Amino acid sequence: MDAHWHLFCGALRCHPAPVDDDAFETIAKKITDGFQKALAEGPLDGLYLDLHGAMVTPNHHDAEGELLRRLRAIAPEPFPIVCSLDLHANVSGTMVEQASLIDAYRTYPHVDMAETGARTMNRLVAMITSGTRPKKLFRPIPFLVTLDAQCTLTEPMRGIAAAGRALENEDGVDCVAQCFGFPLADIEDAGPSLLLYGPGEKTLTNVADRLEATWIEKEQAFGRQLPSAGEAVRQAMIGCEEPGPVVIADTQDNPGGGGTGDTTGMIHALLEAHATGAVVVHIADPEAAEAAHCAGTGGKIDTSLGGKQEPAFGPPVPGPFTVQALGSGSFIGIGPMYRGNRIELGPVALLEREGIRIIVAPRKMQASEPALLHHLGLDPAEIPVLVVKSSVHFRGAYQDMASRIIPAIAPGPVTARLDHLSYRHAKRRIAGARKENINA
Ligand SMILES: [Zn+2]
Repeated sequence: MDAHWHLFCGALRCHPAPVDDDAFETIAKKITDGFQKALAEGPLDGLYLDLHGAMVTPNHHDAEGELLRRLRAIAPEPFPIVCSLDLHANVSGTMVEQASLIDAYRTYPHVDMAETGARTMNRLVAMITSGTRPKKLFRPIPFLVTLDAQCTLTEPMRGIAAAGRALENEDGVDCVAQCFGFPLADIEDAGPSLLLYGPGEKTLTNVADRLEATWIEKEQAFGRQLPSAGEAVRQAMIGCEEPGPVVIADTQDNPGGGGTGDTTGMIHALLEAHATGAVVVHIADPEAAEAAHCAGTGGKIDTSLGGKQEPAFGPPVPGPFTVQALGSGSFIGIGPMYRGNRIELGPVALLEREGIRIIVAPRKMQASEPALLHHLGLDPAEIPVLVVKSSVHFRGAYQDMASRIIPAIAPGPVTARLDHLSYRHAKRRIAGARKENINA
């Protein structure tokens, strides 16, 4: 599944949180040792890797590039090494150089993981069968795009994704992959990029020029401002004729992008607005979840909720809370991302205070899965205001069900305001001209 949990680069925060170098070395060694063993036992026709593409370690800002470099040292060209990446990959020149071909998800929310794997494996098989290697073209896009603006279901990214798919059918082009980048990793290669492969060198350049022009043309559309938590709740409570919940995305506490999953800004805003019936999915708070299970359904707990990981993002919500429902936290995903996979959150509870309902769990998880609500007896379609800790992945399950979707800014670490960050290594400007030059 999505793998941002292991790559959040904390260079922009007070607590650096890149992947530990020891962890990287241990895992990289397992992969390189396994590869060497397979080659020795051979014959081996090629290697396919399913990587994320935005991993950072203190020693390796381009960790996937380093892994590919080590693998390529074991099996020099023309041995085919292909990999598929997450759409949020910060692709480097090293990665492109070392791999015979790189493809990536085409969707955010990532609902095409299986298709991407199959497509990439088919490309490897074609290389092995034909004995040929495609020409490569790597084109970084000169600006960073915030996560909430990268959704391929909404403009401008919907048009950019469609343009890439259309150009893939041109003669001389076999593959047009677009990575949107992970802008919270403060590294030299942070940002979107185009990766094109095919037999026709001139055609690749021509197609890359056209696709890059589409990005540049749409750059200003990435710069929209999002409402505050209070404003988003106010908008959500305005009557709506259409059925389905108004979904507010608490994008700055997206656990998939490095959020703590326990910020409370949205809950405070809901309480202040008396948004009776609203549901928050979910607060990661092991103490509160345990207290709820001790109290039992119908019981009351006086535990304060959330706001414990990073006090700078707002205080806990004081009790008491009523325990409305309990669950084991073990359930099968029904949304388009988890597709039948089992999810284990640990013992979960539905708490209520002043008509606001809050799901709590011992662990954080991006709110992309309506099965968690069903697990606690809730029908998301019947909820008036649904707050989700997610930037975009929630849309996979809720885009069609929601009457409206309001991405909002409550205090949290996954900032939607890239211009508020002091980048030290990232080189590109920020899309939308919130600030002309990020290094200025
Ligand atoms: Zn991703």
